Amino acid sequence: MKYLLSTIIIIILVIGCRPNEVVPKIELPSRDDHLTLGNPSNATSNINNSSNYLIQRPSYALSYNATTNLTNWCSWHLSTAWKGSVERYTGQFIPDNTLPQGWYIARHSDYTNTGFDRGHLCPSDDRDSTVDENKSTFILTNIVPQAPKHNRQAWNLLEQYTRELLKDGNEIYIVAGTYGKGGTGDNGQATAIGSVTVPSALWKVILVLPIGSNDVQRVTANTRVIAVWMPNNNEVGANKWSDYRVSVDEIEKRTGLDFFSKVPIEIQNSIEPKTDLQTIQAFFDEILKM
Ligand code: MN
Ligand code: MN
Repeated sequence: MKYLLSTIIIIILVIGCRPNEVVPKIELPSRDDHLTLGNPSNATSNINNSSNYLIQRPSYALSYNATTNLTNWCSWHLSTAWKGSVERYTGQFIPDNTLPQGWYIARHSDYTNTGFDRGHLCPSDDRDSTVDENKSTFILTNIVPQAPKHNRQAWNLLEQYTRELLKDGNEIYIVAGTYGKGGTGDNGQATAIGSVTVPSALWKVILVLPIGSNDVQRVTANTRVIAVWMPNNNEVGANKWSDYRVSVDEIEKRTGLDFFSKVPIEIQNSIEPKTDLQTIQAFFDEILKM
């Protein structure tokens, strides 16, 4: 009996002490190219391509339109590798002096007393690792005239929700952009503020991946994609962003853009017709203490 017991104990020890044969590889969050999943309009940095002009900065990539003096879309990668704790830039919004000669360059004062906010596409809080990166989100080609409640409420909560997804070990690809002409701010309807077109809607496409490398290859038919289409007015801004979810196909159809063009077409065809259905209520409960 004593012998049997020692044998069992030895067996348990031997099994228990066996080194793990499969050590899970820990992937660290990285900073990836903003256009990894594609360039939605094939924007180029050729000055003759003035309605679809590519501007690339360390913080984001965007397509600028010198006909509307408005950015078509801005695309950025988000992971904790972009996050830090520098304080939000507090100066005036910054004219984009990299625009080709002769193009209109928006100024901070263009927005003053217009009834529209200086609305970020790539948010300040997605880029708080260094002072320069944070400041770069205040360059006016990353800014669009946005109805104040749209900017400060629904759109802001979607930005916050997206950053919450980082806590679950994700990295994220985001494209946000403008559509049309004519929104309604605090002073009523407007099609332009000075030379800058007021968009009639803002939209956003968010693709969520677990942290890892070779991101294009890791997008599957089940990858979560959140897309929203939100008319540019205060009423929409006071509602929940989740009520404005649409499919990527819907945004592609309305804008003529192609998202995720680097992802195999079969995968695009399975993720783009779907509308995100996840329940967001817990987030709203927590953040708004409703
Ligand atoms: Mn904003
Ligand atoms: Mn597509």
